Amino acid sequence: MKIGKVEISSCPYCEGTDIRYGYQSGDCRLYGASGFLDNQEPIHHLVCAECGAIIFTWVTNPRKYSKTIPERAI
Ligand SMILES: [Zn+2]
Repeated sequence: MKIGKVEISSCPYCEGTDIRYGYQSGDCRLYGASGFLDNQEPIHHLVCAECGAIIFTWVTNPRKYSKTIPERAI
């Protein structure tokens, strides 16, 4: 499957090809995207059904986030 520019066809850990989708929402959303209600959005994951690894994680609107890392985060 293709997520943006990234093609995912198998798990990099076990080479399994049974790949499933899930997402984090509620209090596990990613914050910091200006212009959204509450500046947040869900975090999406691809999960390997054979070994359980989370093999790829993304957000739908990456350009909403700041290029500047706050001093307090480092
Ligand atoms: Zn795997």
